Formats: sequence, C-alpha cells, structure tokens
Amino acid sequence: MNAAVTTELKTIGHWIGGETVRGDAGRTGPVYNPATGEQTSEVHFASVEEIDHAVAAATTAHSTWRHWSLSKRAELFFRIYQLLDEHREDLARHLTAEHGKVLSDALGEVQRGIEVIEYVCGIPELLKGAFSEQASTGIDVYSIRQPLGVVAGITPFNFPAMVPMWMWAPAIACGNTFILKPSEKDPSASILTAELLKEAGLPDGVFNVVQGDKVAVDAILQHPGIAAVSFVGSTPIARYVYENGTKAGKRVQALGGAKNHMIVLPDADIDMAADAAVSAGYGSAGERCMAISVVVAVGDAADPLVGAIKDRLPKVKVGDGLDPSSEMGPLVTREHRDKVASYLDSGPAQGATLVADGRETAPDNGGFFLGVSLLDDVTPEMDAYRDEIFGPVLSVVRVSSYDEALRLVNDNPYGNGVALFTRDGGVARQFQFDVNVGMVGINVPIPVPVAYYSFGGWKSSLFGDRHIYGPEGIDFYTRTKAVTSRWPDPATSKVDLGFPQTR
Ligand code: NAD
Repeated sequence: MNAAVTTELKTIGHWIGGETVRGDAGRTGPVYNPATGEQTSEVHFASVEEIDHAVAAATTAHSTWRHWSLSKRAELFFRIYQLLDEHREDLARHLTAEHGKVLSDALGEVQRGIEVIEYVCGIPELLKGAFSEQASTGIDVYSIRQPLGVVAGITPFNFPAMVPMWMWAPAIACGNTFILKPSEKDPSASILTAELLKEAGLPDGVFNVVQGDKVAVDAILQHPGIAAVSFVGSTPIARYVYENGTKAGKRVQALGGAKNHMIVLPDADIDMAADAAVSAGYGSAGERCMAISVVVAVGDAADPLVGAIKDRLPKVKVGDGLDPSSEMGPLVTREHRDKVASYLDSGPAQGATLVADGRETAPDNGGFFLGVSLLDDVTPEMDAYRDEIFGPVLSVVRVSSYDEALRLVNDNPYGNGVALFTRDGGVARQFQFDVNVGMVGINVPIPVPVAYYSFGGWKSSLFGDRHIYGPEGIDFYTRTKAVTSRWPDPATSKVDLGFPQTR
C-alpha cells in the first residue's frame, strides 16, 4: 500500500435504467485524490451479467426513444444544456477531485463538452435527408437517417466529462440509447452526468453507466445487442477495441494516443511561441491527447526559444487543483507520475540535456506531483521522443530546415495534432497541404476543432473511418436508408421482369 486511506470511502457504482446500481460483482478499484495521494472512493467493476443488464435496459428504452420526434428531442437537449450550464462548477469539482487538473482547466473541459450539446440542439437540421423529385418518371428517391440502436462509449481518464459528451450527446440526439464505460480512475463525473440527464427529463434507460475494466470492455465488444462502439484512449487499446469490435460485427471508431509536435520556424515570434509551448506542454500536467510533447526548433530559432521557455518555467505554479493560484495540478496516479519521471533519467542517459528537472520542484505532500520538466537536444531514437509520455516533460528536437521538421512529423507513427509557428503565410499554407496529421494549428498550439467540425487524428491516432463529434459524429451514429417511391395509377400496372431502367 503506497497511499494513505481515508476512513470513510465513498462507493461508486453503475447507473442502469435510470437508477444507481451498487454493483455486486465483487471486484472494485481505488479512486484517489491525486493532490493528496489519499484514496477517496472505491469503484465497483461490472461483471458480464451487469453489462447484460445495461444492454437490456438500453434496448427496452430504445423501443420508445427512437419514436421521439425531432422537435421533442431538440427541446430536451435545450433543457440538458441549461442544466449542465447551471452545474458547470459541480462537474468541474468532481474532475479536479479525481483527475487532479486545476479547477480553471476543469471548467474549460466542461465548456468544451457543453459546446457539443449546443451543436446537437440543432438535431432536426443535422438529421435532414436528401430528396430527389422525379428521379425517374413518376418516381421520387429520398434518404433518411436512422439510429443504430444501443451504442456504447469507452472513455479515458484525462477528460472524464468532455470525452463522454463527445459521444453520448450526438448518439442520443440521433435516437440511439447509450452505455458509457468511463475510466475507472475518475468515475464520479459519469454518475453526476446521469443524474443531471434524468433531472432534465431523459427517459430511463436512454443513458446508462457501467463502471469497470477489461472485463466490462470485453463484454461490450462481444455483446450482440450493441451496434456500435466509440473508444478514446491509448493506441494499443484503441487498436484492440477496433479489431475486436469490428470482428464482432460492430461499427467502431477508436481514437488513440498522440505525439504532438510544435514546429517553430526562425521567423516566428519567439515570445509567442514560448508562451504557447509552455501552455500547451504543461497545461493539465501534459495529460491531454492534444498536448504539445515535442517542440521542433528550426535553425536559429533553437537557442532563443529554449532560453525563453526556460525563463518561463519557474513561474509555473504547481499545486492542488482547488487552490486558485495553482496553474498545474498533479498526475493522475503515483504509477503514472513515476513512469513520466523516469524519462528524466532515460533522456540524459541517452544523450539529451536536462534543462529543468520537475522532481526538484514538485510539492512534497504525498500527492502525485511532478514539476515542469524540459529536455533539450532530444533525437528521434530516444525513448523520450518515441513514447507518448503523457506528462509535464517537454522535449526539444533541433533540426536545420523546414523540410527536416516536416519529415520528422510525417515519419512519426502518430498523427493527432500538430502546430506550426511562423509569420510566413506561404509556408503555413504549404504545411497544411503537406502534413500527415488530422488536426493542424497555424500559430495555435492546441487545435481542438470547434463542435461543428469533427475531432480525430490520422495514422495510429485513430482506427476506423469516422472522426468524433461534429458532422462525422452524426454520420457515425446513424445509418442511411434510400427510399425509391412511386404512386402509380393501378390501371397501368403490369408484370415486367426486366431490370428497372425507367427514365
Ligand atoms: P487507456 O487506453 O488506458 O484507457 C482507456 C479506456 O480503456 C478506459 O476506459 C480503460 O478502462 C479501458 N482499458 C484500459 N486497459 C484496457 C484493456 N487492457 N482492455 C480493455 N480495456 C482497457 O487510456 P487512459 O490512460 O485512460 O487515457 C490516456 C490515453 O488516452 C492517452 O494515450 C491519450 O493520448 C489518449 N487520449 C486520446 C484522445 C484522442 O482524442 N485521440 C483523447 C483523450 C485521450
């Protein structure tokens, strides 16, 4: 046991059919307050039978939910929006308590999630089909979008409210019923969300939560009653979920890990680039799939840029996320903190220069803290470059030209986000054409698309052929039907065995 345990542990269970279900599979996991290192709760892990129970509730609910008119669904989503808006701080506090991110960042997470709710309030417009009058003589052809049925979402620890919203909001608005399997590390926000959805008037069984680990994930992937799975998490598990979900006949979108580069050209505004690197490298303690992990300093940009980043580091205030003066909180678990800190040994051992060592500046109170850390002279062979890290360790790779920087990004197995800092519009335009990455920022370090575009990477950052939320989210959660319709005069009816070719 490496953490203190508070005397009164909260118990977190499932939410099935509109009510809490304690969970009686007999397997549980600990939930910590990462800022103190104390265990605060125990979460019940679902059994295969409990997944069956959730699918049964969602299937029953679907038989009535899919009949809800578009205007009634839109009205309900306006109420959901309003309620979530009123409970922003409540939700954010749940995130800080179990994830550790500072409260202002947690509020930002809730805001970006709520923007997806805002988008699906327009569901009547989003589900419009096409209509071709007189496609052939007397024949009209039209397409309609219908829900898939029961769909599931499996989510990571780093955005316990927002990433589920990317999934459940479009899925439910499209007429599906939903089963969420949140991360076992910070499960509370999912239950608060369920309570708020019920309060807003969402019928029981339309939104369900099953807590758990691999057992629950495998049961979801194998369950014949689940039509589609959305997954966000690390690349090995994303690949596993995609391969096994599709093998079981499901539609799957599986978003994986990332290694996001920020290229700084010699003509860039160095102060602006340094501000961006520090914000995007250390925000949320680097535990964002769109965090900047590698700064690629081109030519003469390198020395002033490393100097400007280094100057900013002592000012970053690391502490408990509930302290309003904290800018960066702890990492999610002790194991993860230790793994991230290990790059501060392996980096220099493999030839990197340790410019800032976060082990020396981390608060020492039992929480899972690591201060902001900077490695310079990193090369593509080093572990610090090859691994995702997912913590407050920023690497600088020095290259001599734009072409070399571009090659580095395009050779990387991940393709989630990338940023280019320059004053040259022509180079920026060429870059957006050349780069093999799904989300590109031009002088914007974390280019998370707004809710009416879709989010997703390329290469090993996404398995499947649909990005998440926005228009592609609506596509993912619906299937289209094409209807060919004729209202003939019975007097002209006759048998004709030829292939239809009326014009
Ligand atoms: P993770 O892959 O460990 O866990 C994600 C989900 O999978 C969790 O619900 C977890 O319970 C489940 N899971 C874990 N191990 C499993 C196994 N062996 N079999 C079946 N299911 C399993 O990811 P994480 O540590 O919670 O989150 C961090 C990762 O998520 C990072 O790699 C980050 O880049 C990625 N991420 C990606 C995006 C994106 O949009 N591409 C967004 C957020 C996070």
